[in-house]
Amino acid sequence: MDQYGMLIDGRLVQTAERDDVINPALGAPFASCPRATQAHVDEAVAAAARAFKTWRQDEGFRRQKLNECAAAIQGRAQEIATLLSQEQGKPVTAAMAEVFGAAMWIQYYAALPIEPEIIHDDAEKQIKVVRKPLGVVAAITPWNFPAILLAWKLAPAFLAGNTVVAKPSPFTPLTSLMVGDILKDVLPRGVLNVLGGGGEVGAILAQHPLVRKISFTGSVATGKKIAAYAADDLKRTTLELGGNDPAIVLDDVDPARVADGLFWGAFQNSGQICSAIKRLYVHEKVYEPIVSALVARARSVKVGNGLDPDTQLGPINNQMQLEKVIGMVDAARQSGARVEVGGARLDSPGYFYPPTIVTGAHAGMTLVDEEQFGTALPIIKYRDLEDALEQANRTHYGLGASVWTSNSERGESIVQEIESGTGWVNHHLDLTPATPFGGCKWSGIGYENGKWGYHEFTEMQTVNRKK
Ligand code: NAD
Repeated sequence: MDQYGMLIDGRLVQTAERDDVINPALGAPFASCPRATQAHVDEAVAAAARAFKTWRQDEGFRRQKLNECAAAIQGRAQEIATLLSQEQGKPVTAAMAEVFGAAMWIQYYAALPIEPEIIHDDAEKQIKVVRKPLGVVAAITPWNFPAILLAWKLAPAFLAGNTVVAKPSPFTPLTSLMVGDILKDVLPRGVLNVLGGGGEVGAILAQHPLVRKISFTGSVATGKKIAAYAADDLKRTTLELGGNDPAIVLDDVDPARVADGLFWGAFQNSGQICSAIKRLYVHEKVYEPIVSALVARARSVKVGNGLDPDTQLGPINNQMQLEKVIGMVDAARQSGARVEVGGARLDSPGYFYPPTIVTGAHAGMTLVDEEQFGTALPIIKYRDLEDALEQANRTHYGLGASVWTSNSERGESIVQEIESGTGWVNHHLDLTPATPFGGCKWSGIGYENGKWGYHEFTEMQTVNRKK
């Protein structure tokens, strides 16, 4: 087994204690990850604090380094993607897209213009707003998109002049360790540090007195803990949390035209996307053809090991998540919902659960009320649009939402009635590096991407000069 090391102060560090990393397509360990101790966290944060002193000084140098990071990642894309597929489960083609996406995000920030904002300028005085780095940033990431979600944090944090200690998920730590290994030859020592370990290591990092900002992506439950840790020291936080995105299909759609978008909006990455479609509300006029079009797609999709080039959907990433999805579907079935397709784990050691469509679902079932984060989609029939909107908004979540219609302008006004950070019309999951992404209500605080994502890694200063 490869001995992946942690990156601390420009050096790869091994530990006596290691944790197995499971390949979800096999349901068995394929590698192991070092587990950081309190001393490793202290060392990494201290290295980042030292590096900050010089790293913050030269914006041109940081832009050049960002471009070099992107090129280094692209140069090793195949290797990173293969490892990503093994630890996460996704098809290797999707893993390649994720790795190239990570490089694209870094290039975007390498080129993002950042000018001070002049608020007032006359013969007497000038007032301007400048942005400064915060210092050491803790970047804590989940297991569904380990490569690109790390890039969403590193790129704007580095552009602003911060240094970073990253702590990936214990389910998918190896891609981040490999990226750390690659970038150690590009970045000055201490600018990036990558630690292994689970929630206990994340908790030590997030509460470290030298950390000034916690950029966190993960579950609502952990996000609330992070907010509590941050409170004591008034650390800055960005919290990108879970979602239970509704998609509302209006009565005027052509089912054949929207079926692909709906299916992949729900099932891409085996449904393990914070902003995937997780509840589908369909008008009764188009309900039957939409259900049969989605069932047909679910039947035809190829589920398998991500390393098999024919695979379209990989396994669920881990046993706990698999059991959660199974439990939600079984509970819905017991409460009278109908499983149209799927609904049973594949007979294999991997964590495979084929795309599952559940009709007759309603509020009160966990499959509708909570985030399933897996290959199961409840479909809810509606007659009255107001009622569908009321159901869509009856949740603590507020990440994404979409409206599907042959009249996109009508869709645009309807989607704005949904409480969500993003409102899509006639598609779902479309993201670009320039587009702010975040959630309202329990789905998060703050935004990533675009200039908004950069602002989150800065402190403002108003400079008021009498001439
Ligand atoms: P999680 O909250 O269990 O873990 C996320 C990270 O936090 C991991 O690195 C974990 O080790 C760490 N962690 C756990 N406990 C901690 C603690 N007490 N202190 C500090 N760190 C701790 O989430 P997960 O299961 O890995 O990810 C799935 C969740 O992430 C889903 O809810 C999904 O919707 C959400 N997510 C949100 C976004 C977004 O942008 N809004 C994107 C991807 C995933």
